Amino acid sequence: MAATGVRLDLDGRPIKPMTICMIGAGGFIGSHLCEKVLFETPHKILALDVYNDKIKHLLEPETQTWADRIQFHRINIKHDSRLEGLIKMADLTINLAAICTPADYNTRPLDTIYSNFIDALPVVKYCSENNKRLIHFSTCEVYGKTIGSFLPKDSPLRQDPSYYVLNENTSPCIFGSIEKQRWSYACAKQLIERLIYAEGAENGLEFTIVRPFNWIGPRMDFIPGIDGPSEGVPRVLACFSNNLLRRQPLKLVDGGQSQRTFVYIKDAIEAVLLMIENSARANGHIFNVGNPHNEVTVQQLAEMMTEVYSKVSGEPPLESPTIDVSSKEFYGEGYDDSDKRIPDMTIINRQLGWNPKTSLWDLLESTLTYQHRTYAEAVKQAISKPVAN
Ligand code: NAD
Ligand code: UDP
Repeated sequence: MAATGVRLDLDGRPIKPMTICMIGAGGFIGSHLCEKVLFETPHKILALDVYNDKIKHLLEPETQTWADRIQFHRINIKHDSRLEGLIKMADLTINLAAICTPADYNTRPLDTIYSNFIDALPVVKYCSENNKRLIHFSTCEVYGKTIGSFLPKDSPLRQDPSYYVLNENTSPCIFGSIEKQRWSYACAKQLIERLIYAEGAENGLEFTIVRPFNWIGPRMDFIPGIDGPSEGVPRVLACFSNNLLRRQPLKLVDGGQSQRTFVYIKDAIEAVLLMIENSARANGHIFNVGNPHNEVTVQQLAEMMTEVYSKVSGEPPLESPTIDVSSKEFYGEGYDDSDKRIPDMTIINRQLGWNPKTSLWDLLESTLTYQHRTYAEAVKQAISKPVAN
């Protein structure tokens, strides 16, 4: 499993083993990135997070061949003086830490802005001052709404890709009004992108910015009441998985007509590894990372997940598998939505030659097989427990 032999970059140069300071390593993307780095490269990881449940299998037992290449540091980057020292010890810092679930953007806007902007400031500063390379995770949400969404419903221009395909260098960032607090996240991410870009321009910071477009797969978020709070609202994959596991209808927010493109986490992680190991091609760039071929409305996603889950669990679907719910009821005041998110892949193709491979059906099949295997029994037990008076 560990890397053997000399690894070459895209230009045929040997890749030197490096130490990576990975902040937010215990989250969904971090856990997959840790696996990739440990299993397929000789690089070392300083893994920073407040939690480590999703990377426990990599930290123990200590006899694993990769054990000396990962070190976990339980650190809250809001207030921990060890942060600068760890960034200094590494060749590269990858910052994944963030509050990044839509249910928080309008209900906890201050925490969202602090987490996505203020808390990232020292990371950028320490990288810049110590001449360390930074890969920072932003979001496709910085694009906000498409230009096409402002056209009349029957306008033929809505079919023209230049009105909806999102390009790193040419698309504008269009957010709703300030009272639509949904955009607190996108706005904070946009400002940290601008700050990083300015550090590059004025002080020579070597940076890469990643804009993930709905990466999904095993270990994403939590199942409410099983490995997360009962009242918690995770992102759509976990919400719908939870409904399927509990044999409840899937809730379509405002009719489920928003569109998304979903990419399999394992495809997306390949792109991140290319960025890590090809600094000359990745530095100074902002990259969309998504799968333009996997576009569906949320309603279509619900229908496909219902069909796939029935196949992997052997349980027949409900007679009415979905139910409509208003965004106000589901998310509360101040929610708003991105209408459509198709990534332009020109830049990542040109710089790194990366393309996603996995179809939506295939990625849902492997992900829902994991969800069923991991949670079905626990959910069954939780449902059968008598409710306390
Ligand atoms: P996640 O919530 O699973 O992971 C984030 C991790 O950061 C968590 O483990 C959390 O404990 C940690 N963290 C948060 N604040 C911290 C702090 N103050 N100190 C230390 N650790 C802290 O989310 P994810 O899906 O893995 O996302 C990672 C990054 O990618 C985020 O920046 C997110 O905005 C971005 N992103 C992800 C997606 C996606 O499709 N998954 C889409 C857009 C953007
Ligand atoms: N959504 C939904 N039902 C749910 C959860 C989410 O209809 O139970 C919708 C949500 O309104 C949005 C889309 O699914 O239009 C994707 O939501 P997600 O939480 O994954 O984050 P986003 O893509 O908006 O960042």
